[in-house]
Amino acid sequence: MQLRNLPSVDAVLAHPDMTALLAVYRRDWVVGLVRRRLDEVRVAVRAGADAPDTQSVAWSVSRTVGEMTTPAPQRVINATGVVIHTNLGRAPLSEAAMQAAAQAALGYSDLEMDITTGRRGSRQAHLQALLRELTGAEAALVVNNNASAVLLGLSALAAGKEVIVSRAEAIEIGGGFRIPDVLRQSGGILVDVGTTNRTYVRDYSEAINENTGAMVKAHASNFRVEGFTAAVSSEELVELGRERGVPVLNDVGSGCLMDCEKYGLAHEPTPQESVAAGVGLTFFSGDKLLGGPQAGIVVGKRDLVQQLERHPLARAFRIDKMSLASLTTTLTHYLKREAEQEIPIWRMISASEQSVRARAEQWVSQLEAPVEIVPTRSAIGGGSLPGETLPSWAVALDGPGADLLMRRLRKCDPPVIARVETDKVLLDPRTVLPEEDGPMLRGLCFALAG
Ligand SMILES: *Cc1c(COP(=O)(O)O)cnc(C)c1O
Repeated sequence: MQLRNLPSVDAVLAHPDMTALLAVYRRDWVVGLVRRRLDEVRVAVRAGADAPDTQSVAWSVSRTVGEMTTPAPQRVINATGVVIHTNLGRAPLSEAAMQAAAQAALGYSDLEMDITTGRRGSRQAHLQALLRELTGAEAALVVNNNASAVLLGLSALAAGKEVIVSRAEAIEIGGGFRIPDVLRQSGGILVDVGTTNRTYVRDYSEAINENTGAMVKAHASNFRVEGFTAAVSSEELVELGRERGVPVLNDVGSGCLMDCEKYGLAHEPTPQESVAAGVGLTFFSGDKLLGGPQAGIVVGKRDLVQQLERHPLARAFRIDKMSLASLTTTLTHYLKREAEQEIPIWRMISASEQSVRARAEQWVSQLEAPVEIVPTRSAIGGGSLPGETLPSWAVALDGPGADLLMRRLRKCDPPVIARVETDKVLLDPRTVLPEEDGPMLRGLCFALAG
C-alpha cells in the first residue's frame, strides 16, 4: 500500500506554489481544495495508482484555483468567418459602445433622473428618441432580449385571445424559442392558418372573429422555404387588420438597419420597412445585425407600446444600465453615418474580398509553416440572412489532423476558434478583429509547432 507515501495537507501547503496562492486567496478555500484533492488521490491510490508527490498535488490545486478565478466568459478569437456567431457571443461591440458601458458601470449615472429638472426620469427616454428617429416609429420600448420583447408584446395584447399565425411562420429560432410555445406562455391561443408553403390573405381573413387579439408575422431567420410558396406581406396584413380592427405584430429578428443588398447579400427585412408598412409592433434583437449589446427592441404605434409599458412583465424584462448605454451609443453610429467604420460586424460584412485576401497574405508572411491561402465563403449566421454568404479568403493549415489542430488552437491564449472544411482547418480573417492579429499569430505558431 502506497497510502503512507501520500503527502500531508501541511506538506502540500508548505510548497512554494501554495504559499503564493495563500498570499492572494482565502486560506479556508485553498486548504479545502488541498484536502479534496488528497481525498481523490487516496481513492486512486487504493485502486492501484502510484502516490503523487507534493509537487504534483500543489500543481493540480493551483490549476483548479486558476480555472475557477478566470473571468468567464473569456475572450476568444473568432476565425470561423461566421460574423454573428451565437456560441461566441454574437456581435462584438464598437469601442465607443464598450466605453459607454464602462462609464455607466464604473460610476453613478442619470439612469432614472432628469438632470435638467432633478426629478425622476425614464431610463428609456433617450433610447426611445433615437429609435423613433432611426425607424420612423411613433414609440419604442427596449427590454433585455428579443425573446422577452415578443413574450411581453403577446402577453400585453393577446392574453386570453386568439392569435393568428401562418403555418409557415410558426417557427423555432433555436435555444428554446418557438413561436407557438411563446404564444401559449403569453396566455394567447394559437390559430394557425394556411399551409407550410402557402398562406393567403383570405386564410387570415377567414380566421378573424370577435376574440382575435392579433395577427403575428415572424421572420424565418435561420431557414428558407423555396419553390411553390406564397406568403402575405406586412402591407396586405396591415390593410386587413385595419379593416377588421386587429393589430399586426411582426418579429423581424435580426434588427438590420442597413441595406444588405449593398453588400451583395439577400434582402433582410428591416424594422424601418415594417414600420413603414404600418405594422402595430415590430420586434428585433440588439446583438444581431444591429451590432450592439443583447437587447430586445419594440417599435410601433404609441397606444400599443404604452400597453406594453404598463404590463408587469415590462419591469421583469427591463434592460440594465450597461446595455442601455452601449445600445444608445451603437444607435448613434447609424445617425452619424459611421456604422460601416465603427460597428465591428458592419466593418466585417463590408470588408472587400481583396482586403480579406491581403490580410490572409499578411498572416502567411508571418508564419513559418506549411499554410496556403484558399478561396472560401464567410457566413452571416446568428439568426439572420439564412444561407447567405460573402466571398472570402482563408488561411488553410496543414497539420496533424483537423481535430487535433482545432483542439490545439482552442488551447491558445486567447483561444482561437477556426472552421473545418473538407478536413482542412481554415482561418478566415474577416471575423478576426485587427488588434487580434498579433495574439492569433503567436497562438498559431504554438499550435503548429505542437
Ligand atoms: C433571434 C431571434 C429571436 C430571439 O432573439 P433574442 O434577442 O436572442 O432573444 C426571436 N425571433 C427571431 C425572428 C429571431 O431571429
